Amino acid sequence: MTHTLMDSGGQRPLRSAEGHARILFQRVTHSPEETVSFGRELARELQPPCTVLLEGELGSGKTTLVKGIVASLACIPEEEVTSPSFTLVHEYGDQGKVYHVDLYRIEGGRDLSTLGLDDLVGEGATVLIEWGEKFGGDFPEPCVRIRLEYLGSDERRIIVERVEA
Ligand code: ADP
Ligand code: MG
Repeated sequence: MTHTLMDSGGQRPLRSAEGHARILFQRVTHSPEETVSFGRELARELQPPCTVLLEGELGSGKTTLVKGIVASLACIPEEEVTSPSFTLVHEYGDQGKVYHVDLYRIEGGRDLSTLGLDDLVGEGATVLIEWGEKFGGDFPEPCVRIRLEYLGSDERRIIVERVEA
């Protein structure tokens, strides 16, 4: 498998709503397996407490990438990491230190507040959030934002940015 891991630390910092964002990695993957394995690599870069926002249309690969990240962080097989689109939050790890959240079905800010996302981050956890962009800035400050783009049936572009407040 070819890897095009690229640390573009020398790039000009981008401005974003949350402050400065610096691109950490950009990768084009060519299969779900490659995306999972990229997720495992990314897991090594995440120091808790950390909120990770995943943005991208349905089918862009957010859950697939999270499988790799969570499998690595929680030391479990990736098959055990499933989409929380109905349950909203899945908890992993011995002490609940990794949470996978999917806000796709959340209707409004009130529903959002019942999830207690701030508390999870306060516990020193890694919190991975799909569809966070639906709520503007109404949830914990992200430290990493991952954008996924559909390029073709098996191709996805994955851009990982570190957000500095
Ligand atoms: P999302 O959570 O963004 O809705 P999923 O990860 O659930 O997306 O689904 C992505 C779909 O695209 C899966 O069916 C997966 O098998 C397929 N796929 C094809 N190529 C890739 C790739 N390179 N990376 C990730 N998923 C891919
Ligand atoms: Mg998903």
